[in-house]
Amino acid sequence: MSMLRDALYNLRTLLFPSGCIVCGEPITRSMHGICTQCRYDIPTTNYWIAHDNPVRERFDGLADIVEGSAFIFFAGGSLWRTLIHRCKYGGHWRIAHDMGRWYGAELRDSGLYDDIDVLIPIPLHPLKILRRTYNQSTYLAEGMARSMALPVDSRSVRRHRNNPAQARRKGSERWANVEGIFSIRHPERLRGKHILLVDDVLTTGATLTAAIRAIHAAVPDCRVSVAALAVSRHITPSR
Ligand SMILES: [Zn+2]
Repeated sequence: MSMLRDALYNLRTLLFPSGCIVCGEPITRSMHGICTQCRYDIPTTNYWIAHDNPVRERFDGLADIVEGSAFIFFAGGSLWRTLIHRCKYGGHWRIAHDMGRWYGAELRDSGLYDDIDVLIPIPLHPLKILRRTYNQSTYLAEGMARSMALPVDSRSVRRHRNNPAQARRKGSERWANVEGIFSIRHPERLRGKHILLVDDVLTTGATLTAAIRAIHAAVPDCRVSVAALAVSRHITPSR
């Protein structure tokens, strides 16, 4: 099914280069990449409107964060899941940017993210960038930053170990896998700032926790909030 879906999508984007980034249907420029039907159907979490929410609570006891949210639920078999996969591996970096613009506008309007100073995308290891040619989280952060009128810093946090993909690992392995993989370059530049760490998919939170701990160790007086594009539904206690 997903192969057929991908083939249809590729055909549509070929015929309609400005088609909807989710379903591929033709759209006008003013729709910013996503058609009316897909905007209506999007499984948003609305976590960004409340301080207490399952994403922020996910970090309780793990890392000290100010705010935390995710834009959509990462549900198996949905078009949105296909979309995120596409923006990660399929070369469709514009999807990440367009989604970022939408998510950033929601964060801007929520009121909880008003004192953010800078957005930092979770970096990929340079070898992984060579293979994929881009980091989807950077495009996501740039889209968000555009709506929030804030700068993006993609140089201060460095990933110095090319850990194997988290998706193939079980819970406890994920934690051992990410320990000490991040370091901070020029920590003085982040002093006193409120950082919004941006990642594509939040599952256990192991990768983000490793990055937050590295930032706090290098820059004790900075505050960190977290924004993921998608979150798996199973971390929601009430669902
Ligand atoms: Zn659509």
